Amino acid sequence: MNYESTSELVVVGAGFSGMAVAIQLLKRLRGTACVCLINRSLSFGRGLAYGTNSPSHLLNVPAGRMGIEPGHESGFIEYLQSRGMPYGASDFVPRSLYGDYLEHSLLTAQAGADEGVRLEILEDEVVAIDPVSEGGIQILRLSSGVIIKATQVVLALGNFMPRPPATGHYADWTNLPLINDVWLHGQLERLPRDASVLLIGTGLTAYDAVLRLLDQGHLGPISMLSRRGLLPQPHREQEVPPASGIVPADFLLDESSVCQQLRRVRELIRHTCASGNDWRDVIGGLRSHTPRLWHQLGVGARQQFLRHLLPYWDTHRHRAAPAIFNRIQLAIQRGQLQVLAGRLMDIDVKDANCANVRWKARGATQSMMTSYAAVVNCTGPSSDLKRVSDPLIVQLREHGMLGIDSEDLGLRVDDSYRIIRYDGHPLAVVRYVGPLLKAQFWEATAVPELRSHAVRLVDAMLGPRI
Ligand SMILES: Cc1cc2nc3c(=O)[nH]c(=O)nc-3n(C[C@H](O)[C@H](O)[C@H](O)COP(=O)(O)OP(=O)(O)OC[C@H]3O[C@@H](n4cnc5c(N)ncnc54)[C@H](O)[C@@H]3O)c2cc1C
Repeated sequence: MNYESTSELVVVGAGFSGMAVAIQLLKRLRGTACVCLINRSLSFGRGLAYGTNSPSHLLNVPAGRMGIEPGHESGFIEYLQSRGMPYGASDFVPRSLYGDYLEHSLLTAQAGADEGVRLEILEDEVVAIDPVSEGGIQILRLSSGVIIKATQVVLALGNFMPRPPATGHYADWTNLPLINDVWLHGQLERLPRDASVLLIGTGLTAYDAVLRLLDQGHLGPISMLSRRGLLPQPHREQEVPPASGIVPADFLLDESSVCQQLRRVRELIRHTCASGNDWRDVIGGLRSHTPRLWHQLGVGARQQFLRHLLPYWDTHRHRAAPAIFNRIQLAIQRGQLQVLAGRLMDIDVKDANCANVRWKARGATQSMMTSYAAVVNCTGPSSDLKRVSDPLIVQLREHGMLGIDSEDLGLRVDDSYRIIRYDGHPLAVVRYVGPLLKAQFWEATAVPELRSHAVRLVDAMLGPRI
């Protein structure tokens, strides 16, 4: 198929971010307009996060705070309750239900849109965007051969496949015993129940993998390896929004030293705990300050933070639902799950059932070799746009259309979310929303932040709401 069509507003990617933008557009456009939403597959609203079919994979934000629109945070719990599901606002709900909610929200917005406002859904992949926009028209090329002309483009490309871990020698991560894409359905399911499995990473992705293995009756030993062996902390059983006022509005104003920021946050945590609150109130209360604090740090201090503090931040900020944390702890207590602190050095694949892994325990002088039946990359989605092999990213990169940040956290956008090119100028009509905003705001990967970015992006496209 090779035809040309013209759509005014094109949203590429229908994970949470693309759906949030499309819904805002459908609600706010007046007169005659077409919103074209393109996704690689027809599983709209799923993406990596909500595409799981496992009931053990729970949201890591309480249901009462997962509404798709800022100002209507209870939207998700209302949806669940309207379907007779017995969940409360502080419950951690299976992620697959959230995908259902996003789909439902899109259909509702479509049904309520102005008469002349159309939603067009395409199952296709955008593989190129022409480097220049002519007369305000941007040309998008799809893998099917379709060419789309658009006056406004929003890229909501989401999370990219994890990068294979660095090893001394080349390791083929496309074949057993190595598994690179832990989210690809069927990968962990192929493993024999008694296989000894090494997970590279000890974060929430590794938790997902452990739960998947346990659910399928895995009996063999499972090890998780990361530099420090730190595990994501649990949420409170009844997770509540952080008590207000714990983090003052001017907290750390103008503080550009990462050591000073850390010292002051620790002080605040001590003070907060002494007065009967919880450390989570401080971490949660920092959330709205994080973009400012990140900005204040500057490049050198950010690198210091990423080198030394990242695992501590991640394990306290990106917490697990209590039920998940408890299952992980039980697996550790009964000896099936082992947490290793150390550095992966090399992998020597013997055959499809055996990899010899050389790793060095933290603080040890000598490395050691351990054999596993399978090694799974659980380092999480990649944001390193210099290495991502996604066709659209490669094309944009090769044409200098991406201003990639120096910390490999994502890309740069201007105040109206237009992507900043390599030469520092913004693309005229191509905007971005999604986890790659982390480069600019640091705190930008979860629903509570992304829904606000989606609204601000649409404000920039259409003008603010009156
Ligand atoms: C495993 C996991 C669990 C998470 N759990 C939570 C949680 O519980 N709570 C929370 O708040 N956040 C969670 N997050 C954070 C998550 O990043 C956001 O909540 C959100 O899902 C990001 O949505 P997105 O649309 O930006 O990206 P994605 O969900 O990755 O969606 C991007 C979509 O774009 C499509 N796409 C990409 N490129 C193209 C192209 N060229 N052409 C066409 N289609 C394309 C992809 O196929 C995909 O469907 C989780 C993240 C992960 C990875």
